[in-house]
Amino acid sequence: MRVLSAVLLCVAMSAAWAAPVLTRAPITYVLDYGGKHLGHDQWVADTIAARPQLLHLGKDVVMTHNWGPIQALGGENQAYGKGDSVRRLTLEETKQRRAGLTDMVRRLHDGGVTMVMPYICAMTIGGDPDKRTGFWEFYDHWGEYAGEFRLGPRPADDPITWLQVEPDGKPHFFYRLTDGKYPPYEPNIRYAVCMNNPHWRYWSEQVTRMCAEVGYDGVFVDNAGSQRCYCRYCQAAFQEWLKARYHGRPKDYYAGQPILLTDDLKQGLAAVDSRRFWADSFSKHLMALKAAGEKAHQPFYVFPNGGESRPEHVWGGYMPVDFIMFERSVGDFGTNPGMAGRRIVRDIKLRHMNHNIFENKLTQAAGGNERPLLLTRGGYPALNPDWDLNVDAAALGMAESAAYGNGGGFLVRPDYATFGDVLRQYRGFFERKTPLYEGNWSYAQVQLACFPSQKMYGNLPHISRVRSLTDALGECHVLFDYNTRWPGFHFPELQQYRLIILPDVKYMDVGSADQLIQYLKAGGKAIIVGENATMGAELPRPQTSPFASLPQDGRMHTLGQGQYVSCALPPNGKQLWAILGQLGLQDLALCPPEANQHVRFNAFAKADGKTLYFHVLNYDVPLGATARLEHPREGLKLRLPLPPGASAKRAVVHDPDKAEAAKVEIGAGGTVALPPLRVYEVVEVGL
Ligand SMILES: [Zn+2]
Repeated sequence: MRVLSAVLLCVAMSAAWAAPVLTRAPITYVLDYGGKHLGHDQWVADTIAARPQLLHLGKDVVMTHNWGPIQALGGENQAYGKGDSVRRLTLEETKQRRAGLTDMVRRLHDGGVTMVMPYICAMTIGGDPDKRTGFWEFYDHWGEYAGEFRLGPRPADDPITWLQVEPDGKPHFFYRLTDGKYPPYEPNIRYAVCMNNPHWRYWSEQVTRMCAEVGYDGVFVDNAGSQRCYCRYCQAAFQEWLKARYHGRPKDYYAGQPILLTDDLKQGLAAVDSRRFWADSFSKHLMALKAAGEKAHQPFYVFPNGGESRPEHVWGGYMPVDFIMFERSVGDFGTNPGMAGRRIVRDIKLRHMNHNIFENKLTQAAGGNERPLLLTRGGYPALNPDWDLNVDAAALGMAESAAYGNGGGFLVRPDYATFGDVLRQYRGFFERKTPLYEGNWSYAQVQLACFPSQKMYGNLPHISRVRSLTDALGECHVLFDYNTRWPGFHFPELQQYRLIILPDVKYMDVGSADQLIQYLKAGGKAIIVGENATMGAELPRPQTSPFASLPQDGRMHTLGQGQYVSCALPPNGKQLWAILGQLGLQDLALCPPEANQHVRFNAFAKADGKTLYFHVLNYDVPLGATARLEHPREGLKLRLPLPPGASAKRAVVHDPDKAEAAKVEIGAGGTVALPPLRVYEVVEVGL
């Protein structure tokens, strides 16, 4: 068996090697799937008054991806999917639609909405192939529109051949049919088409081009990660992909294991490669849509949905895209940021801190183009009024986007009577304070290994451990980075951190694990949780882990000059604080864990190393439509962890609720007393 160079393998997953990008300023973001935009002047005026930087619309398009040109506007895949809504527009009506949309988008831009993007989908068509309704009706009348809309020749193969299929050739449905029907489309059926099918790709490019031609700045692409297909195009593309990845000799690497497209993890490397291949497929599809749009409008952005619960796609599949949606529908307390209460008995309420730290941190660390856009809910499918968004929680969501430096945004719904002021306020703050947000490096003393590729191998505990440790590190008020770089560790990079945490990275090559051992022996400190490096990563096979001999007893041990604690399960906040004590690292905390439980920090440094920015978020914002943050947090004292040998010369605090930045005194050892904290402050420190 040939020994594979990690570097060569990583060429195939080149995104993973992308250098960490500098920080970018956040944006304000509104999603509006309403069906009454075109021709509604009041809607245009109301939207302009709130001036979101990114406005995401429904199917306000010339031709929809799933039906072709139809009467209805707005909505996502399911909305307006039957009756008159899906009546095919005549050529004349479609021309009027195009003219109307061009005017509407121009007015939104003129009014200060920076980016406007409508809805399309990566894999849906609707209709009945036998009755020739829905998308098939449009396909049969393709020629009527082809000249005016420059559609080119009709794809030769009937759309029924575009479907994603199971290994046995039967259509693959992502959305289960009820008694053979898809209720939102009845009497039509919703089908899933394949992103590797050249005809679907061609049609999707035409839809996108027509979006760009009316002036849209990009497209939101729903279901962008929903590709699990075994059609002949996928089979052929998979073979090509394997050849490229394994330098023309996949058999040498598979060493007798079956080489086939499969979702069955029992098939070992084949299943891992199939997942990589499908991720690569939708990445290619998205980039083809971007290129199609760019021919008519520059810049032109692609904004896929599919970040939530798919960190492996955020890291390895989507990174060249411009934006990515985390559709965070489901949480035990809803998902809106802030304090959610749940009544246990009468007056006893359980309080839970909701946050989006993992999602924001992951995109910050992944280092691609993508900017995260966070969709959160006050319960799903039904809204719990106690968890609904209010103005202060919306401010907190936007502040989170700002604090992680990834250029992202937080979804605010188009209820401008409620949220118009806070949208304007935060956009104004982000634009006035752009220098705080652009061009910085992450600043942290702890590194938490976060390798989303573990999920491709079927290692599910890893990411759940990363999430628990994210909570624990937050509770201990220490600054941390995720290491998402693959194949894992690189000794010289590790040396800039005072603590490395390795949580259940089961698939890791011995060479990478040895880098961490080297760091430890040279005087580093580590917390090692669960099972690590027991399987290879390049080739997932059992191996002897360099961590196998370390006692997993939760106590401090030494290795060379270094110290480590190894434990079976991730420590909670209290346990982590005790471990930090054993390792002599409690000085990393900006404030003690018990105090200020719901305050969180993130930090950046200017590239020249002369300025630090400490972002301070107050999650003590109560959720509920009518709830308000009554009292700011008073008397918050921070001890800023400064670089070795540096001293702080001056500090000012920026707060979106205040017109002027406030100077604060710096005490001995880099301590500062913050002004009363409502939702968000940035402490700018000159070194
Ligand atoms: Zn396929």
